[in-house]
Amino acid sequence: MVNQPQGDPSDPQRPQDVDTAEQQPQATVASERGEAPPHAAASDHSADGPARHGDATDAHDAVSSSELVPLSEYLQGIVESIRPLAPIQLSLLDASGCALATDVAAREDIPPFDNSAMDGYAVVAEAVDGWLPVAGEVAAGEDPTVSVEHGTAVRIMTGAVVPAGANAVVPVELVEEDGARIRVQQVPVAGAHIRHAGESVRAGETVLVAGTVLDAASIGMLAALGYSYVSVFPHPRVVVVSTGEELADPGVERSGGAIYDANSYVLTVLARDTGAQTVRRMIASDDKERLRETIEELLPHADVLVTTGGVSAGRYDLVKVVLAELGDVRFSKVGMRPGMPQAFGFIEADPGRIIPCFGLPGNPVSAYVSFEVFVRPTIRRMQGRRDLSRPRISATLEAPLDSVRDKVEFVRVTLRRRDSEWQARPTGDQGSGILRSLVEADGLAEVPTDRDHLDVGERVVVHLLRSV
Ligand code: AMP
Ligand code: MG
Repeated sequence: MVNQPQGDPSDPQRPQDVDTAEQQPQATVASERGEAPPHAAASDHSADGPARHGDATDAHDAVSSSELVPLSEYLQGIVESIRPLAPIQLSLLDASGCALATDVAAREDIPPFDNSAMDGYAVVAEAVDGWLPVAGEVAAGEDPTVSVEHGTAVRIMTGAVVPAGANAVVPVELVEEDGARIRVQQVPVAGAHIRHAGESVRAGETVLVAGTVLDAASIGMLAALGYSYVSVFPHPRVVVVSTGEELADPGVERSGGAIYDANSYVLTVLARDTGAQTVRRMIASDDKERLRETIEELLPHADVLVTTGGVSAGRYDLVKVVLAELGDVRFSKVGMRPGMPQAFGFIEADPGRIIPCFGLPGNPVSAYVSFEVFVRPTIRRMQGRRDLSRPRISATLEAPLDSVRDKVEFVRVTLRRRDSEWQARPTGDQGSGILRSLVEADGLAEVPTDRDHLDVGERVVVHLLRSV
C-alpha cells in the first residue's frame, strides 16, 4: 500500500457541502429531514429461528476462501496507508469537533490573580474582632485602589482581585452591616473564599494534548487561556459518487427498470456524521467514458473519493476499471459479508496531491457496512483522530443466527438492556439490499470467520450505530 502525502487542506476554495440534487424536486420523507425512523420493537421479529440472509448478497458470493483477503489484513493495509491532513489554524468555534494538531500550554496562570470566590468582605483573618470599618470597595474587573489594614474590611465582589493585605473573604451572608462598618459572625480561617492565582492552571503547564477532540470544555479552556486560534487537523472533503445505469434521483419520476439512488444519500449522511464536508453526485450511467469524465471533474474537490456500484463481476461493472485507470486502485474480494467486492487505492487528484479512493459495492447495506468498516477509519485518521471506529459493546444473543464461514459477517441487530446486560436480536432479512433491516438496527453484530451458527445466549461484539 502506498504511503501518500496529503494535499493542501487550507485551500480557501474548499467548497461547503454541495449536493447536486438540490435543484431537483424533492420528495420529503421523514428520514430526509433527519428525523429518526420509528424504532422497531423487538416483538416485531416474528421468527425465533436463525436470521436469514435473503438472496441479495454481493455478487459472486460463492468464491473459494482462498480468493478472499482477510478483513483484518485488508483494513490494516488501508489504515496504515492514511496520514492526517496538514494542520490548519482555525478560530475556536470553527475548530469545535476537530482534533488538536499540537499540545497546548498555558501562557499564564488561571486564575491570573488571587480573587474572591464570593460577594463579601476582604479581611485580615487574624484581625477580625468586633466592628470593622469598611475602607472601600473592589468590583470584578477593577484594579484595587485600597488595601486591607488590620482591623478593617474592604467590600469585594465575586471574581474581583483580592486587595493587598487581605488573606480571607467573609461572605456577605455571614456579616452584619451597619452603614460604613460590619461585624463578622464567625472568624474566618486564612485563605477562606479566595481563589488563588494558578490554582486551576499554572503558566507553562500542558493543558491539552495533541489529538484531543475539541468539545465545549476544551474550547472553553482554550478561550480561558486567551487563545483565539488553534492548530487542528481539518475535516476532509468527501466526494460521494453513486453509479449505475438504473439509478434515478428521488423526487424524479422513475421509469421501467430504474430504482431510486439510495446510496449517495446513505454515504453522504455517514460522511457528514464524521464531520466531513461532502459533495454528492449521482451518475445514472455505466458508460465508462462518462464515469471517467465525471470522476475526473470531481477529483479536485476531494480529499477522499467514495464511489458506489460497479465493482462486482457484471459486464457493466466498470467503476473498478475506471478507478484503476485513474490511479493505483486495486480490486479485492474481502472476507466480509456484506461488502465482499471492494476497490481501494490512491489517485492523483491535482498535480502532486494524492487522495485515497474507495469503490464500494452497490447494494445499499454493503455500501453502508463498507463505509463503517473502511471509510470511517480513513476519515478519522485524516482528522488526526485515534478513535477510528464506532464504539463497541458486548451483547448476548436473544435469537440464534446463521452466518457464513471464512467471512466476518456483520448482522444488523436491535439492542435492549435486560438484567444489566445488552441483548441483541437480528432485525430480520439480512440481504445486502435490504435497507429496511438496517433502518431498524441499533448496531452491527460481528460474527467471526470460524462460526457458521450462533445459539441463543452466545456473546457477540456489536458496533453501535446509534446511541442506545
Ligand atoms: P452493483 O454493485 O453495481 O452491481 O449493484 C449491486 C446492486 O445494488 C444492484 O441491485 C443495484 O441496482 C443496487 N444499487 C447499486 N447502486 C445503488 C444505489 N445508488 N442505490 C440503491 N441501489 C443501488
Ligand atoms: Mg451496477
